[in-house]
Amino acid sequence: MEYKLPFRDYHKALLKNRLLGLKCNQCGRVTCPPQMSCSSCSSYDLEITQLSGKGKITTFTTIVVAPEGRETEAPYIIVVVELEEGPWIMGNLTDMDPGRAGMDLIGKTVEAGCRVFPGDRYSDGPMARPAFRFAAHP
Ligand SMILES: [Zn+2]
Repeated sequence: MEYKLPFRDYHKALLKNRLLGLKCNQCGRVTCPPQMSCSSCSSYDLEITQLSGKGKITTFTTIVVAPEGRETEAPYIIVVVELEEGPWIMGNLTDMDPGRAGMDLIGKTVEAGCRVFPGDRYSDGPMARPAFRFAAHP
């Protein structure tokens, strides 16, 4: 069994600010980040689809004590975003002072870009991750 969208291809696209997902040809559900099978019906009949990267914040947390290797980044905000196409993904919220984060963030429209994080001793070099900013046209 072959991954339709291997993580290295997802990662390469993210570096070019393109967020890719997988659309299920059986039930229509969009899965992101990529998985082997549909997150709804488990079908392997998936096709690669480019996502808008736009969505709404469903929840957030402010990281004060960062994991090893990221101490200098703290504090920072992590959001869970429900994308227009359906999937929920996590990423940093880049354009807000973490000290001002409050419940009014929930429901705000954001758009994904990407941020490259340096590797640490647990990873295989630098990694791109979704990073969100408030949408210019919500
Ligand atoms: Zn499905």
